[in-house]
Amino acid sequence: MKTKVCKFGGTSMANSNNITDIANIVNSDNTRKYVIVSAPGKRTGADRKITDMLYACYHEVELNGECADTFSKIRERYVEIVTDLKLDLDINSCLDEVEEGIKKYRTSDYAASRGEYLGGIIMSAVLGFEFVDPCDMIRFNDLGEFDADTTNELVAKRLSKVDYAVIPGFYGADATGNIKTFSRGGSDVTGAIISRAVMANIYENWTDVNGFMTCDPRIVENPVHIESLSYKELRELAYMGANVLHPESIFPVRINNIPINIRNTFQPDHKGTMIVSERDKKKDNNLITGIAGKKGYSIVFIEKSMMNSELGFARRVLSVFEYYDVSFEHMPSGIDTLSIVVADTEITGKEDAIIDRLKKTVNPDHIELLTGFSIIATVGHDMSFVPGTASRLFAALAKQNINIRMIDQGSSEMNIIVGVNTPDYENAIKAIYSEFVK
Ligand code: ASP
Repeated sequence: MKTKVCKFGGTSMANSNNITDIANIVNSDNTRKYVIVSAPGKRTGADRKITDMLYACYHEVELNGECADTFSKIRERYVEIVTDLKLDLDINSCLDEVEEGIKKYRTSDYAASRGEYLGGIIMSAVLGFEFVDPCDMIRFNDLGEFDADTTNELVAKRLSKVDYAVIPGFYGADATGNIKTFSRGGSDVTGAIISRAVMANIYENWTDVNGFMTCDPRIVENPVHIESLSYKELRELAYMGANVLHPESIFPVRINNIPINIRNTFQPDHKGTMIVSERDKKKDNNLITGIAGKKGYSIVFIEKSMMNSELGFARRVLSVFEYYDVSFEHMPSGIDTLSIVVADTEITGKEDAIIDRLKKTVNPDHIELLTGFSIIATVGHDMSFVPGTASRLFAALAKQNINIRMIDQGSSEMNIIVGVNTPDYENAIKAIYSEFVK
């Protein structure tokens, strides 16, 4: 029998109606065996996510030793859900235990993890599936890093005895039982870990959108939906800001080539987006899979004659960035020029120190910090095989009078990255979209 792993995100868990939608989805297909849940998210735009409130509780306990007000709001949400669903579940005792735990353990990971824990208890009561605590099988090492191999063994062993289970997302524990969480949005990663260990046929990731769009719908109205994309394309798009799925979710499923299907809890008949190891070129021969970008970049531009023959030049430049704990994102170079593209969030406050040290370290003819950039990645597996793709892209931007300030084509040749002035960002995306998509 096939095995599907289904992860439901925070909006799908936000209230009792949505939880009933989840139950209908799971119950409509008996191969949906392992259900991973997030903590209840926002019911409306102005609402607060349970996880945000739990982090707030942790901080309040650190400051005042208690978190009664904020915790009472969390309690209200869960009690309302359990009452609306008419569940025979003593959620108040679970909530008491969590409130005490937040004060006792005093770690932000413990506090944050309880949103998923309580969500899992509720979902297990709704579906009648066994509740399996990830503490017993998702393992972090002493340094707080995720231990993929041990986890895989423990999950496979634990779930071999359970046909249907609900597993809270987002957390696990170290060998002594201290709770550790993944980074925000980490229930996606839990779903991928479970999928790998049970050798799922498919990992369904249920969220509140129909999957990926060719570009940001806030920039281009009604962009074309992406039916399928490869793991690698997803990495590129996700890294550049298309954030439907936690970027680290790819690693566990890639090992066993398990496809991820992004689905919409609120439109369950929509096929969503399929993420696979290789796109089926016969079915879909789009040149471009997607366009994504981010604002807020600066470029350290360095010029020095004969730079190309100076052994170790780039290494010395990068050592300065490393010294200041600044990671860079792109490094396009010419014969006598080198540009280091960095996110403003990385470099702000350190610019002067970095420029000074670079002057001393590599003695450039000219060095300058250029600010106010945005980066746009145009991603597509087949781009490299089709001559003229780059020239079409550049011509589309030129037609709109958009000045390209930086170009980088990754060695995977799966994307072309351009840097533009931030005021041109939206227009540049529109121009690329209408050139390649429609
Ligand atoms: N609840 C956690 C968060 O808000 C994890 C998740 O939803 O995946 O980040």
